[in-house]
Amino acid sequence: MPRIYLDYNATTPLDPSVLEEVINTLKNYPGNPSSVYEEGRAARILIEDSREFVKSFLDADNSGEVIFTASGSESINLAVSGSVFAYMENGEKKMPHIITSQVEHSAVLNTFKFLERQGVETTYIGVNEFGELLMDDLLSSIKENTILVSIMGANNETGTIFPIKQILEEVKNIREEVLFHSDIVQVIGKNSFSIKDIPLDLCSFSGHKFYALKGCGVLYVKKGVKINSIIHGGHQERGLRAGTENTAGIVSIAKGLDVFKTDMNEEIKKINTLGSLFLDKLFYSIEGIKLNGHPVNRLKNTINVSFDGVKSETLLFNLDLYGVSASAGSACNAGAISPSHVLRAHGYDIKRIESAIRFSIGRFTTRNDIEYAVSAIKKGVLKLRANPL
Ligand code: PLP
Repeated sequence: MPRIYLDYNATTPLDPSVLEEVINTLKNYPGNPSSVYEEGRAARILIEDSREFVKSFLDADNSGEVIFTASGSESINLAVSGSVFAYMENGEKKMPHIITSQVEHSAVLNTFKFLERQGVETTYIGVNEFGELLMDDLLSSIKENTILVSIMGANNETGTIFPIKQILEEVKNIREEVLFHSDIVQVIGKNSFSIKDIPLDLCSFSGHKFYALKGCGVLYVKKGVKINSIIHGGHQERGLRAGTENTAGIVSIAKGLDVFKTDMNEEIKKINTLGSLFLDKLFYSIEGIKLNGHPVNRLKNTINVSFDGVKSETLLFNLDLYGVSASAGSACNAGAISPSHVLRAHGYDIKRIESAIRFSIGRFTTRNDIEYAVSAIKKGVLKLRANPL
């Protein structure tokens, strides 16, 4: 039986050329990049070359704006908590106010919850049934002590794309000094991105979403933006992220971006075509299904659907037996039974939420995979509908 992997939003397999670079780095660059002798200097060169590459990929001005971290989650924690701590250290009397959306990844939401427990004021903006941000609510919630707005580039569960360029402009029109952070973990490696086009103050992304290693990420910090470190120790990464650098992870990020950039247009075209094919086949083959999230403004690789009369956990279990890997909600919540906070924010009824499954395709998905997956999904859905629990 084949294994069909349809969970690219949870993580991607390593690209073979990334793997090659990683092996080369692990074998031939064992030095601590902070050491001044030959082995250290060699590792340092690899890291600084990678930083330069990431800078160019983002279309940024300065490689000093690129901070390597140990995950997307860490980048987000550093951006959000680091902004708050920098503001508080500045001797400001009033507690800061920070704003995000209700549909963010738990890395953002739980950082907000943590800061809330320290007395920071927080606001969580809702979305409509298509996952679009309630813009009026966002703009009217900006106050004199608002220091940061954090809105994701694309949602990991539904694939809904947020118009962050426009959101950023509207926020800055109200208060220029409010920092704007975006979790672009699901954007990088799927769509093109330029910081010149979308002049964010801070943005976070993660290697394992674009065929690089797990456990490495990037925080872009625009020149002049002040954030405090949240991990204390050595002076690595401009003093913003203590700890000996993960040379192989950092190299994998640059290589992963390089591979993506080289074939970007072709890959986006292929994935868009396969994504549409998958969606069409699903809707054509199975009755009683609903697409969750935005019907148009979505990452075409992400298909989040609810199957009437079927519990997602049971269907996922059956799909696994048929060789198909998918998930309900985000990877971090996949083991939990609580209904998706993202779909709840859309206002869907509980039955629709409890029957939702996210399929996400990627670089190695083929037309045959889609054909096989759709017939497995159909088989599972019909079986479960015939034998309701
Ligand atoms: N933000 C989003 C939108 C994600 O999808 C993920 C990973 O699933 C993260 C943040 C966290 O990234 P990492 O797994 O590198 O910590």
